[in-house]
Amino acid sequence: MDIYSSLVNIVEKDFVSNRPEELYMYSRDPGAQPPRKVDYVVMPKTVEEVQQIVMLANKRRIPVTPMGGGFTTCALTVPIKGGIVLDMKRMDKIIEVNEKSKYAVVEAGVSQGALKSYLEKYYPHLQHSTPEAPPTVTVVGNLLIDGHGHLTPMHGVNSSMINGMEVVLPTGEICKIGSCSISPCWFTRRHLPDLAGLFIGWFGTTGIVTKISIQLFPKPRLRDCLVFSTDDPNSLPDVVFKVFQTEMAENFFVIAQDKPDWMLGHIYIVILITGNSEEEFELKKRQLSAMFDERVKFMEETPPAFKRRFLEVPPFAATAADFAKGGGFEYVGGILPIEKIPEAWRRNLEIIRRYNVAFSLAIQPLDCGHSVMFGPIYSFNRADEENIERVRKALDETNKLILELGGILWKAELPGQKLMMERMDTNTVELLKRVRKTLDPNGIMNPGNWE
Ligand SMILES: Cc1cc2nc3c(=O)[nH]c(=O)nc-3n(C[C@H](O)[C@H](O)[C@H](O)COP(=O)(O)OP(=O)(O)OC[C@H]3O[C@@H](n4cnc5c(N)ncnc54)[C@H](O)[C@@H]3O)c2cc1C
Repeated sequence: MDIYSSLVNIVEKDFVSNRPEELYMYSRDPGAQPPRKVDYVVMPKTVEEVQQIVMLANKRRIPVTPMGGGFTTCALTVPIKGGIVLDMKRMDKIIEVNEKSKYAVVEAGVSQGALKSYLEKYYPHLQHSTPEAPPTVTVVGNLLIDGHGHLTPMHGVNSSMINGMEVVLPTGEICKIGSCSISPCWFTRRHLPDLAGLFIGWFGTTGIVTKISIQLFPKPRLRDCLVFSTDDPNSLPDVVFKVFQTEMAENFFVIAQDKPDWMLGHIYIVILITGNSEEEFELKKRQLSAMFDERVKFMEETPPAFKRRFLEVPPFAATAADFAKGGGFEYVGGILPIEKIPEAWRRNLEIIRRYNVAFSLAIQPLDCGHSVMFGPIYSFNRADEENIERVRKALDETNKLILELGGILWKAELPGQKLMMERMDTNTVELLKRVRKTLDPNGIMNPGNWE
C-alpha cells in the first residue's frame, strides 16, 4: 500500500491500479505465452512523471516494464519478474511535423493509427512506414523492436527511420539522442556516436523512450498490386533477387495458407507498385509482370477482394488470426538470408503438419532485399489449452529451425531469447551484461529479458 500511495502521489489515483481485474488484462497478451504476475499498472502523462516513477522503482527495487500497445504477441510487455507495467498510452501528443525535412516528433503513446490519420489530414503527401499490426500499437514500440512496415522492403527496417529520441535512463536522468541533443532540430541521428543502439532491440531493458523522431516519406499518387502464384518454393530466392534488382517494388509479400480453400497448395506473391504518373506506373507494371520464369505465373485477373487485402495501409493480411475460434495469434519472426527460403519453407510445413496448427506462412523481404522476414503465423483458440500447447511446440521447433538455418529471431519471446543466448558468442553476452549493468545498476528495467 505504501508503494501504491507513492505512485498515486506521482500520477493521481485514476492512473494507478493494483486491482485484480485490471492486472489480469496486463498479465497476458494475445500470443501463446503463459500469463505472468503484474503488481501495478501506472499510466504517466509527462516525462517528469516517468522520471519520478523510475526513481521510486530504484529506491524500492521494483521492476518496471514499459508498454506501448502491448501487441508483439510475444509477451514482451508482460513482466517476467512482476512489478510495474508502465503503460505509455497517455503520452499521446504529436509534437511536430517538419514537412521539408520530412519527420514527425511524437510522444511514446502515439499510436500508428493516430499518426496515420494526422498525416492524412494535414500532410496528405507524406506517409510513415506502417506495420500490418492493429492501429492501436504505438509508433515507439514498433521502432524500438526493429519493426517492419509497408515501406520497409524499399527503405529499410523501421528503426533505421529513427532521427532521435528522448529517453529516461534507468537511473532517472533524461537524455537526448541524435541532433536533438545538440540543437532544437530532430532531423538526424547520424554523424554522431550512434547511441540509439543502446535502446533499439533491448525490449525496454535499458531505458524508457518518451519521445521519438520518425522519418516521413513521399506518398505516391498511384498504387496497385501485382499478384503471381507458384507451386514451387525453390523459385522464391530468384523472385526476391529479381524484384530488388529493379528497385521498383514499394512492398512485397509471399503468402500461403490452407484456408480459404482456393489458397490451398499455392504460394501467392504480391508486389506493391507505386507511381506519380500513368507512364511511370504502366512501365513498372509491364516490367514486373513479365520478369519471372515459367514456374511463376502472373495472375492478371486477380479477385478485387484479394487485392484490397494488400492495398490497404496497413494491409488486412492477418486473416489467419480469424481461422481458429478463440482469437489466439502468435508468429515467429525468422530473419533469414534469401537463399535459405526454400529449406525454411519446406521444413516449416512439416512442423505445421506435425502439430496440426492453423497457419499462414508469410515472407516479407527487408532492407532492399538483403534479408527476409520468414513468418510462420499460428492461430489458436485461447480457451483451449491443448491447442495452445501444440502451438507452443510448433513455435519452439520453428525457432530452432530458423537458428539452425543461420537466421535470427526477431522480437523473440522468452524461450526464443534463451535459444539465441545459448548460441551467442560469449564475449557478446558479456558485453550485453556490461551495458545493462552500467545503465541499470539496480536491474529494475524489464528484468528477465536478454538474460
Ligand atoms: C495482427 C498483427 C500483425 C502484425 N504485423 C506486424 C508488422 O507488419 N510489422 C511489425 O513490425 N510488427 C507487426 N506486428 C507486431 C507488433 O504488433 C508491432 O510490431 C507493434 O508495432 C509493436 O508495438 P507495440 O506498441 O504493441 O509495442 P509493445 O508490445 O508495447 O512493446 C514492444 C517492446 O518495446 C518495449 N517498449 C514499448 N514502449 C517503450 C518505450 N516507450 N520505451 C522503452 N521500451 C518500450 C516493450 O517493453 C517491449 O519490449 C503485428 C502484430 C499483430 C497482432
